[in-house]
Amino acid sequence: MKAWQHFCTINHHKMLVMKQCFKVGLYKQGLLHDMSKYTPSEFLVGCKYYQGTRSPNNAEREATGYSSAWLHHKGRNRHHYEYWIDYSADPKEGIVGQKMPTRYVVEMFMDRIAASKTYMKEAYTDAHPLEYYEKGAAKLGRMIHKDTAALLHHLLKMLAEEGEEKTFAYIRKEILKKKRKGKQR
Ligand SMILES: [Zn+2]
Repeated sequence: MKAWQHFCTINHHKMLVMKQCFKVGLYKQGLLHDMSKYTPSEFLVGCKYYQGTRSPNNAEREATGYSSAWLHHKGRNRHHYEYWIDYSADPKEGIVGQKMPTRYVVEMFMDRIAASKTYMKEAYTDAHPLEYYEKGAAKLGRMIHKDTAALLHHLLKMLAEEGEEKTFAYIRKEILKKKRKGKQR
């Protein structure tokens, strides 16, 4: 079992996300990001299928047909759009992605940057998270709400074009502040 490596990978990822979240004022989410990865349902599977270069969930899927760790994870972590998939209030629509609260879209954005940095290492650029998202976006269909997808894409595009410092300042001053004026969700 690659328990130690997996433990370090989780900690490293959490540390990156925390630092980024703190920069935009999301303190609680920064501290609590991905906590369920330390539960046995996720941790033990992560150790067994540890890869180093990609998510162990992919290896678990190849081995068993589905990832029990991912199903556990996405049901508990609101920064994944998959958490928000539910039956529409309109019975004609079936199962759809519900609109995510803004602060979780921001956490999802931070998560994607951190994951790109970890897997790309020195080859990481500010354009990589956008490229990765655009490669998969067409397949998402109605699983992600159009407003959620639009905000995520907008932030990723700004990151690619203007860099971290400018984008994080924009999130702090414009995106999250607007929300705070109204009632916080
Ligand atoms: Zn997560």
